[in-house]
Amino acid sequence: MTQTITPLIAGNWKMNGLRQSLLEVEKLAAKLTAGEPPRCTVALCPPATLINAMNRIAAPAGIVLGGQDCSAEASGAHTGDLSAPMLADAGAQMVIVGHSERRADHGETDEMVRQKAIAALTSGLTPIICVGETRAQREAGEADAVVSRQLAASVPDQAAEHDVVIAYEPVWAIGTGLTPTSADIAQMHKSLRDQLISRFGGRGEGMRLLYGGSLKPGNAKEILAIANVNGGLVGGASLLADDFTAIIWAV
Ligand code: PEP
Repeated sequence: MTQTITPLIAGNWKMNGLRQSLLEVEKLAAKLTAGEPPRCTVALCPPATLINAMNRIAAPAGIVLGGQDCSAEASGAHTGDLSAPMLADAGAQMVIVGHSERRADHGETDEMVRQKAIAALTSGLTPIICVGETRAQREAGEADAVVSRQLAASVPDQAAEHDVVIAYEPVWAIGTGLTPTSADIAQMHKSLRDQLISRFGGRGEGMRLLYGGSLKPGNAKEILAIANVNGGLVGGASLLADDFTAIIWAV
């Protein structure tokens, strides 16, 4: 059985954006509502400080908002952390977990990422669970093994009943302008799909598999057309409405 998957284009603003940046979201909303509706779900994951204000502009244009991380705990003595219920309360419907920058900067392990994904699901948020190999791991021929291990250990069993999104983001492609070949992306996404199907059956067929890492207007059409690529996680190019819209229209 082949399922129809609605692609997702999600922008990750990382630690960028002040209230002034909402002008860019107004521009994006105007572009998306001017013509035919996009053929994908469009999401933005701004810094948490902007979620509430951005939602007022984004929601009427059908743009879904997400957080960039959440705690595995719902509340408590965890100064500086944000919980999944807080993100949901602010208007988020999704949350990125296990981004390679959090794995590197905050020592997040697969088990921590899995717990965060469970917290997201418990609060009704769709987790975007990130996996991806480093340059050294790819050069050592370990990319498949590393990514398979991350997938197995970061995706919770609860994914069998809920919406979860997996983002394959080779660490060496993030913010570098480098991308894997289309053949390499196709091979990795096929391997991810096979693993999801063998673990989750029919549900694994329908889970969205995003590609992330230097996805730009110039390469979006080719990358988004690859089998088992059901959208993209976009960093730098999501900050400008013109670039982000060009990627959305490439679907
Ligand atoms: C990211 O950080 O998730 C990302 C894909 O970044 P960029 O598009 O800038 O490579």
